[in-house]
Amino acid sequence: MNFCTIRCCICESVLLNLPEEEISRLNGLTFRCESCGQKLLLDGTNVSKDMSADATYNLHKYDLNI
Ligand SMILES: [Zn+2]
Repeated sequence: MNFCTIRCCICESVLLNLPEEEISRLNGLTFRCESCGQKLLLDGTNVSKDMSADATYNLHKYDLNI
């Protein structure tokens, strides 16, 4: 099983370290970097700054301890 490490595009800290399957299931969700507080949108195996301001705030907290 291939693990995929997703890093914050701002501060490079590790956001997620999950199998590729799991990453693909999380596609399109929004995360918050715990180091720099930036909201990040997961797009495939990349993250980008989430530009959607306050309106649709669907922050997803993912439990890393699986
Ligand atoms: Zn960060």
